[in-house]
Amino acid sequence: MIYDKMHTPRVQLLIGHLPHVRESLITLLKSWWCATTSSTTSPCNMCVPCRAIQDYHWAAIRWMTPEKGVYIKDDVEQMLNATQFTVDDEQRAVVVFEHADMFGISVANRLLKLLEEPPAGWFFFLLTERPDMILPTVRSRCLEQRFHPSILPSLLHPVLACFTTPGELQLPAFIRAWEQQPIAAAETPTMLDTLLTIWNNKYQESHSNNITQAQCMAVLAVLTQAYYQLPMPGGQTIFWRLMFIQITQAYTQRDK
Ligand SMILES: [Zn+2]
Repeated sequence: MIYDKMHTPRVQLLIGHLPHVRESLITLLKSWWCATTSSTTSPCNMCVPCRAIQDYHWAAIRWMTPEKGVYIKDDVEQMLNATQFTVDDEQRAVVVFEHADMFGISVANRLLKLLEEPPAGWFFFLLTERPDMILPTVRSRCLEQRFHPSILPSLLHPVLACFTTPGELQLPAFIRAWEQQPIAAAETPTMLDTLLTIWNNKYQESHSNNITQAQCMAVLAVLTQAYYQLPMPGGQTIFWRLMFIQITQAYTQRDK
């Protein structure tokens, strides 16, 4: 995330899992207003501005959310009125649109000019988990940033690596990986978390790779179910082996 407020783009589309994106944005905004730190260090999280921002009470930040599932005119009218006043660059005003994929056509049209030429001092952050659903006219006005929980493939446990490209590996390859470095009982929930994150990311990016959303959903369903049926002591090997078979099946069946 860019912390330099002088060079922060005025209109940004932040793409990723909503709680994760929201948390990153809150950290950025705290760094703008934190009373105790400069822009080069992290916000303190303790001062009045930091806490008000965390609680969504900071007056200079408007958090917009579609009250009825889709943004309607009433949701944005007040905000549009407010943006008729410019703000000192030192003061800054921020509008955050959660679920920016839920702008209806009429609301999007009302916002276009604003996003095209943001008034002085105003910053707009559009948050979405589904960038494909954003109207192209809106999307073209935003600088895009993607948020990934940072997982480096090279740091993946070799057994987990077997779960990232189902269909390419057969069971014997999985068994070999397992025998070389099995997953301990205590590690299983964390490992499942990692796989869920990886497959959530694949789901969100399924438009740009060869995996379909249906395949991702099928794999996520197996992973989620496994989460609620963690193995009994000693049941690690069969648990992971079964999951490998189920995920391979779920994935290849959706391929047809
Ligand atoms: Zn602070």
